[in-house]
Amino acid sequence: MLPTQTDVLIVGAGPTGLALAAALRKGGVNHLLVDALEEGRNTSRAAVVHAHTLEMLQGIDVVDPLAARGTALPCFTVRDRDEALLQLGFEDLPSPFRHLLIVPQSTTEAVLENRLVELGGRVHRGVAALGATAEAGGAAVRVRTARDEQTVHARYVVGADGMHSVIRDSAGIGFRGEAYGDSFVLADVRMEWPIGAKEVSLFFSPAGLVVVAPLPDGSFRVVATLDDAPEQPGVEDIQRLLDARGPAAQACRVTGIAWASRFRVHHRLADRYRAGPFLLMGDAAHVHSPAGGQGMNTGLVDAMVLGEALVRVVRDQAPDSVLDDYAQLRRPAARQVLALASRLTRIATVRSIAARRMRNVALRLLNRAPAFKRNLTLALSGLSRRRCSQLPQAGRPARLAALEQRHAIHRRPAFAAQLETR
Ligand SMILES: Cc1cc2nc3c(=O)[nH]c(=O)nc-3n(C[C@H](O)[C@H](O)[C@H](O)COP(=O)(O)OP(=O)(O)OC[C@H]3O[C@@H](n4cnc5c(N)ncnc54)[C@H](O)[C@@H]3O)c2cc1C
Repeated sequence: MLPTQTDVLIVGAGPTGLALAAALRKGGVNHLLVDALEEGRNTSRAAVVHAHTLEMLQGIDVVDPLAARGTALPCFTVRDRDEALLQLGFEDLPSPFRHLLIVPQSTTEAVLENRLVELGGRVHRGVAALGATAEAGGAAVRVRTARDEQTVHARYVVGADGMHSVIRDSAGIGFRGEAYGDSFVLADVRMEWPIGAKEVSLFFSPAGLVVVAPLPDGSFRVVATLDDAPEQPGVEDIQRLLDARGPAAQACRVTGIAWASRFRVHHRLADRYRAGPFLLMGDAAHVHSPAGGQGMNTGLVDAMVLGEALVRVVRDQAPDSVLDDYAQLRRPAARQVLALASRLTRIATVRSIAARRMRNVALRLLNRAPAFKRNLTLALSGLSRRRCSQLPQAGRPARLAALEQRHAIHRRPAFAAQLETR
């Protein structure tokens, strides 16, 4: 039987819920983590863990096991067929993690859950939140288990329950934005790939973008926009896609498919991250195009910042306003990420021949502009948003830190700043 009372109820054991539970367990905060599913998902959506995410995940000691199961790549290249338009190197990042860590989301979730269990925690699976209401001293959440329905009372309830968050809806928090017209195809394939396993490649094409990332087991992750994608893409679909958008001089040959799916992607941001006892993080708070590989990364940083805020409030009895600081820091971070992902998607999918030529000329020039490249790598690695993950010390309002962050962006060269703020 599920306990009926807790300090923090986390609804959703995706990557963000697992990371938050580990942080609370490590910080000695009483909590419950529930998930509607009987088993964790094995869908490997996010394939990249960025430098700033790794910096934050050091707090729960999962970087070594992640690194052991992933592949470190030094470079991200934007290509138009056989031409490399823009090459970004991560070796000079101002971080201990000067690379892209390639690791499938299912592995990241397994590592996080192992750590939670090591710390003595667990996921209560097969427990679906049905709705929640605020009450004196916290909130009451109605849940359905395999056996019956019951109510869990918590001082704080965290919605880590993804894009269709019940907690966000129960808290009355709007989730404004829209769905992209395109469908996205995601596939893990075996193939002969002329570029090899040394970089993540983003191909720009009038038919839509395609990203190819080498996975640690020797297979490749392919993510692409595709109008009217089939529900279950097959080898031929991925082969056609890469023939049309990938390298032309040396063709690739797709030989097998481990897993494939179709997604429709939304571009949305929660109006608020906090409403009384309710707090949001991860996809419950922000969703966007996978261009730039930012979604899970932003959510994991949310989880680590919220973990620290809840430890201060619940264990150390800091004022409850520390949770407002979390909201004030992390919503601007998500706004920047949405702008970056949306701009990358639009640049990648330019259709007219003239605009495409202009874009390619601009990128070739920018490839020789070190300041631009540095700002873009800082944005992609999350390091440009470091201030959005530092809770202020007692007495220093988060609003000030957020303003400083904004100021820092406006001082950057114009094009790079536009990438982040538009
Ligand atoms: C095609 C595609 C490619 C992507 N590529 C990348 C990438 O390269 N890099 C990147 O960083 N991100 C990427 N993402 C985004 C990434 O997958 C998400 O941002 C990430 O999964 C969000 O984690 P989360 O924990 O917030 O939510 P989720 O992973 O959605 O987990 C939510 C959990 O809540 C549970 N739940 C839902 N409702 C309830 C309820 N009522 N009661 C109890 N439990 C509930 C669900 O079962 C689930 O386990 C990609 C996404 C897609 C679709």
